[in-house]
Amino acid sequence: MTRARKHVAAMAPYALADLGGTDGRPAPSLAQNESFRPPCPGTFEAVVAAMADAALYPDPDWTELRSMIATRHGVEPDSILCGSGSLELIGCLARAFAGPNRAALAPAHAYPYFRSAAQASEARFDTAPESDRTASADALLEAVRPDTGCVFLANPGNPTGTRIPAAEVRRLRRGLREDILLVVDEAYGEFADHLDAPVFDMAAAGNTVILRTFSKAYGLAGCRVGWGTFPKGIAVEVRKVLNPGNVSAISQAAARAALRDDAYMRETCALVAARRDQAARKLAMLGIRCHSSFANFLLLDLETQERARSAETRLRSGGAVLRAQGAAALPHCLRMTIGPERELDNAVCLLETWIGESMP
Ligand SMILES: *Cc1c(COP(=O)(O)O)cnc(C)c1O
Repeated sequence: MTRARKHVAAMAPYALADLGGTDGRPAPSLAQNESFRPPCPGTFEAVVAAMADAALYPDPDWTELRSMIATRHGVEPDSILCGSGSLELIGCLARAFAGPNRAALAPAHAYPYFRSAAQASEARFDTAPESDRTASADALLEAVRPDTGCVFLANPGNPTGTRIPAAEVRRLRRGLREDILLVVDEAYGEFADHLDAPVFDMAAAGNTVILRTFSKAYGLAGCRVGWGTFPKGIAVEVRKVLNPGNVSAISQAAARAALRDDAYMRETCALVAARRDQAARKLAMLGIRCHSSFANFLLLDLETQERARSAETRLRSGGAVLRAQGAAALPHCLRMTIGPERELDNAVCLLETWIGESMP
């Protein structure tokens, strides 16, 4: 029998949310941090127009898309690489910069895909404690070992939803050895852009990558478009391991159209924030604690793993799918996407019922 390489065979498959409803059909999901709004109206027309050339391979250099991203964020087009989702970029960064003798380091409750990406490249995955479920620059610096090769930081974090200020990200960079690659994953950056100055300029120093995505605030998760600003030397290496023609012409067209409607994206962020903070207040009244979130989800603290399991089961039986957080070392928590109003209200109601039922 053919066997996979040892480190791959030893890996657990990356667990996406289990979206199966109790009747076998997928339940409406609050488990994947997808946008509750469709993509902006302009994307529909753009995608249809792009079909005219769909017999041809897409632009492998994402020329128009990166020029638009560059203009939007005041960065150099040449510093941008696009991925089939930012997941592809994370995977390729790990492939090129992590490995045996080049360990990866991340906060204790980091995005679980960082671990998968590190393991797939045979890198040890180290974690640093967080304080109050927030990444800590000092703890990360303290956890650096002689063989640390890269540091992954999602800011805002997933599943925590918390963030550290730009000044702390810069302080972290200053404290790291120059040969360590710092990957700042800003998948939820758009939800927090009004709070702080951007950090895209950090890429210029040569050892930091800033990642973003069209999957969350732009509502294009199904199109798979991520991007980042990369130092020249890092971009050259990552391109070698990226699939050529990785972002379909249709998806590039959709992303360009989404960028043309900045107002729609910002409206999405404002709607998410209002709905999120309202849900957090309702949950607080039920006695369920959530940390303040700077993203399109809330992390519910159910206090014990047993209660989290019991709540999850009750929610699922009522048609609401939340995401358990064992993979992020938070087995007592559930993550709830700020999804469509009906689904969100249903989830909150189900939690209220569950609390009533679980009272002695
Ligand atoms: C959703 C998410 C991603 C993945 O985004 P894609 O662009 O859809 O691949 C990356 N990082 C974090 C922290 C996320 O939450």
